[in-house]
Amino acid sequence: MLKRAGKVFLDFLFPIACLGCGRDDYYFCPDCAKKLDLYLNNSCFYCGARTFLGQTCVRCGEKYALDQVLAFGYFSCSLLEKIIYELKYQSVFLVSRDLAGAMFNAGQIKEFLKKDKKNILVPVPMSKSKERKRGYNQAGILARDLGKVSGNYVCQELLLKKQERKTQMKIKSRKQRRENVENVFEVRREELSRKPELIGKNIILIDDVITSGATLESCAVVLKRAGFKRVSGLAAARAGYQKN
Ligand SMILES: [Zn+2]
Ligand SMILES: [Zn+2]
Repeated sequence: MLKRAGKVFLDFLFPIACLGCGRDDYYFCPDCAKKLDLYLNNSCFYCGARTFLGQTCVRCGEKYALDQVLAFGYFSCSLLEKIIYELKYQSVFLVSRDLAGAMFNAGQIKEFLKKDKKNILVPVPMSKSKERKRGYNQAGILARDLGKVSGNYVCQELLLKKQERKTQMKIKSRKQRRENVENVFEVRREELSRKPELIGKNIILIDDVITSGATLESCAVVLKRAGFKRVSGLAAARAGYQKN
């Protein structure tokens, strides 16, 4: 908490400037957001078949728990990479405000998040020890800000990450990535018994970067086991994927 307060304080101490153009008062200004190459959410995340707003196709739907996956931009875009780096390691809370605003203004994501009483935004959790070390979970901050701009309900405590393994981005093969995250996430039963109305809502998992999708998928698996019918994922950037 102290760490967090200190970082918020730093936001005020140093004048902020857009990471793209240097303009005051933003980390990611609306003009730079407009120029960003948006990820085209028009195919099944798993096989690439054409689908609407990143929905999983019927065939992949039999194998995978995620019903829909959307991303805002490409991690290979240097501006977006910088923004996510700031969000992760510099903990500048205003970065999240600007990023969430830009994401919500992107047509496809707005359509996807359109205030729906059935949507619940759930950040991909970090293990508690890692979160304590960093002072915050960047996916949680992003989910909170996406909830603010979209009017969707945010549930920060629905998922729990049991232990920290290797960082996903450092692992090359898809299979190893899947094994790395299997059984790492858990639905917090006490949260569900406190809020039984959550069951029956559409879960939208929020993360900063999606690579193989293994992390989101393993969250989706435990959520479906717990009774949720529809689970989607939304990330600020897709990595390991080159635009054609
Ligand atoms: Zn700018
Ligand atoms: Zn498919």
